[in-house]
Amino acid sequence: MIPEDKLKELRDRIVVEDVIGQYVSLKASGRQFKGLCPFHAEKTPSFYVHPDRRSFKCFGCGEYGDAIEFIQKVEGTSFLETVRRLADQFAIALPAAVRGAHNARDANERDLDLRVTECAAAFFRRVLVGEPAGDAGRAYAAVRGVGEEISDVFRMGYAPSPEEAGWDALVKELTERGHDLERAERLGLVAKSERNQNYYDRFRGRLMFPVIRPGGSVLGFSGRVLPVHDSKDDQDPTPKYINSSESSLYAKSKTLFGLQAASRHIKTSGRALLVEGNLDVVSLHQRGHAEAVAPLGTAFTHEQCAVLGRLTSVVVICFDGDRAGRKATATAIELLLNADIEPRVVALDAGEDPDSVDPEIFERRLERPTPALEWFLRRLVAAGATDSIESKARALHRVAPLLQKLKDADVRGDYAHLAANLLRLPVSRVWSAAQPESRGRAPRHDPRNAPPPARERQSMQPQTSLPRGQALLTALLVDLPMAAGGAAREQLLEYVDDPRLAPIVQGVLEAASEGRHVSVGELLALVEPEAEQLLHRAVFQGRFLEESQPNRVLQQGLTLCKVVKIESQIPHIDQQTDAARRDGREEEVRALIKHRLELRKEQAALRATLRDDDDNIN
Ligand SMILES: [Zn+2]
Repeated sequence: MIPEDKLKELRDRIVVEDVIGQYVSLKASGRQFKGLCPFHAEKTPSFYVHPDRRSFKCFGCGEYGDAIEFIQKVEGTSFLETVRRLADQFAIALPAAVRGAHNARDANERDLDLRVTECAAAFFRRVLVGEPAGDAGRAYAAVRGVGEEISDVFRMGYAPSPEEAGWDALVKELTERGHDLERAERLGLVAKSERNQNYYDRFRGRLMFPVIRPGGSVLGFSGRVLPVHDSKDDQDPTPKYINSSESSLYAKSKTLFGLQAASRHIKTSGRALLVEGNLDVVSLHQRGHAEAVAPLGTAFTHEQCAVLGRLTSVVVICFDGDRAGRKATATAIELLLNADIEPRVVALDAGEDPDSVDPEIFERRLERPTPALEWFLRRLVAAGATDSIESKARALHRVAPLLQKLKDADVRGDYAHLAANLLRLPVSRVWSAAQPESRGRAPRHDPRNAPPPARERQSMQPQTSLPRGQALLTALLVDLPMAAGGAAREQLLEYVDDPRLAPIVQGVLEAASEGRHVSVGELLALVEPEAEQLLHRAVFQGRFLEESQPNRVLQQGLTLCKVVKIESQIPHIDQQTDAARRDGREEEVRALIKHRLELRKEQAALRATLRDDDDNIN
């Protein structure tokens, strides 16, 4: 048993908000902290932590207790095991008899399971760090750019192959340390040979990633095969990743890889970064994005979503750029919206994954992820959503349920506008489909169901058309805010001076310089509502979204503006020339005529560069 004085010392030393804060994002609320309860599903916090009383209480489901009880409840560990873990964490020295107690007497099933997984984790780690059998593992980790420090944070290990250490390296280790092999089999670490009934290792020749709870318990493993141990047999390929089996300890759908290393950073950075693979997580942490986690070989689930929801309200999805990745992204967006979490997307091109993208480009995309609904809409458009009346209706049908999930009416309004712009549908139609209760019914005559008034007003007086070059530049900038850098940025501000376009350019450039995304709704709010229709047609069409040569379009736009600018100077020069001629200032007349000629020449040269590119500028 644990001596009373040691128990008291531990209870005094424990910082209850730190222990619970590993699992729940806590916000100060007076002298207490509050957060989302880990014991029942909720969207508004009713879970309180009281530092003075060193306790927690949920007013939703009634759970309460101290830090030890909290850990027992979330981790399922016994009292003794929990105390042992917390004593480690808060540097309390327990008597050797308690600390090293390996007998099963005081331990519950879960404790025993955890001791097996922890023994295995320690073994794999030891092999990777220093044993000759780990040479290939070390070499591969180095090739993948995994540094010492990060390897330690993730407690990465190596399961040796039969050529390196026989078929039963882990079996031997577990036996030596007195663990039950049947238990290890249930946990999916070892298997029994049908032929001779001997146990052998399930993980062989693999880089090992333990799946660790925020409190530090090892729930299971995910092992990535080393390329050197990959079967060359096409008929019987070696799976790239294998996971330890679902068990009392390990449910893939309920936990995320990297959570123990990420949870603190998710809270401080205010977002979680969701990537596909374990190595993506590790490499992102190494590059300073310690808020990265991954679903475990399964699709992202609503349980995993709930886990993240307790830590943050923003999740940035960055899956691979293939078809499967895009599909998984769409599913994750829906789950996150359901959980009232704001989804954003860092889109990768086909064939790209976070490790293969140029780091600088990837950083920029990470800084400014696309709002998920915008990503979703742009995907629909790229897939032909605006090709026909029917395809528009189908696209609206797909996006409406997502819009309906948005709680904030202003945000919903902005996205309804964006959807209307991109799908080229009337705002009112999208708006009524986006109403949470309407579900496709005709809009009621309820003022709350009307789109924001300023934006929907119809044009009363005819608008003069937009200057072509300026509209082209504005459209490019709206679709690709990073297209204009440095000098081009200055030129844009100089050339785009139409009162309907200039505020939009300003708005996009400002937001881009702050690394912020600006919605179409926000931009339209900057200009006279009468101009909205014109702007829809000329600017918010999304026609440069997939533009492969934005720089060329930029140059074309600037050239067009220059041509127009020169044109506007000519009448002025003609007036000056007439005046100089009347006054008999012959020299000035000659200079003006020469200047006019030069301008015309320049204009002709500019026009010549435009001739090849007529498809963009018309
Ligand atoms: Zn609760």
